[in-house]
Amino acid sequence: MNVTQSAVRDCPVCDASGRVPRPDYSLDPWRIVECTQCRMIYLENAPAQALLKTEYAWEGSKTDERTRRRQGRALYYAFSDSLKKIRDFFHRLRGLRKETRYIVTFSPGQRVLDVGCGSGNTLADLPNHFIPYGIEPSPGLCETAHRLFAARGGACIHDVAVGGFARLAGSKFDFVVMRSFLEHDSEAMATLKAAHGALNENGGVLIKVPNIDCWNAMLRKTGWPGMRYPDHVNYFTPTTLAQMLKNAGYRRVYMPLRWRLPTSDNLWAVAFR
Ligand SMILES: [Zn+2]
Repeated sequence: MNVTQSAVRDCPVCDASGRVPRPDYSLDPWRIVECTQCRMIYLENAPAQALLKTEYAWEGSKTDERTRRRQGRALYYAFSDSLKKIRDFFHRLRGLRKETRYIVTFSPGQRVLDVGCGSGNTLADLPNHFIPYGIEPSPGLCETAHRLFAARGGACIHDVAVGGFARLAGSKFDFVVMRSFLEHDSEAMATLKAAHGALNENGGVLIKVPNIDCWNAMLRKTGWPGMRYPDHVNYFTPTTLAQMLKNAGYRRVYMPLRWRLPTSDNLWAVAFR
């Protein structure tokens, strides 16, 4: 990713421009900062999210530069697909995944949308009465997910989050899942608002993000696995995630202590409309 394609941005949670550098988490040329208003930690010079989709719009082009970039993405996704397959294998060994159990427990209805659904494995594991939908920017993964979801009355939209919600306008969902997604999203507030608008009256969202307030992050700083430059653009704590959900219009945020322990690298939350 070319740093010149990045725009300097304000706080993704409260939109304030006041911020202080966090050199302890920064890795040149990527600048991690902390909002002086709400303490949100974020990548100041985040690559524009539209780039992700734009790169696919180049398919069919013959120039060297475009070919090089496309190969770069293909490798990235091949690698990412393999990692997901390995992870899924281990999760299956342990029975139903945590996210599947949370969806079954908290979704007030059958229509579930997974944002950044990958190959669709999470929702494919749901009991039969659920109707799975997804939004996924990788064309290969989206196609796989669509086959799984269409067989159960759902669908997968090939797009980035905000674009996908725009194309789903008019469709309402009972539950929206954003697992390991919001930390990548340079338009996270717009995505959360779009999800809010796509929910049925009692609907909610399930969120999993890395927790920069965990002990591992405090000890390892730039070496913490949750720090990914420049892929991760938002670094949440339990407080800043709850604040962002409230700012996006969610009224009830559920985040019990066991979902935000400092001994875990990750943080979970459920928020209802
Ligand atoms: Zn802020």
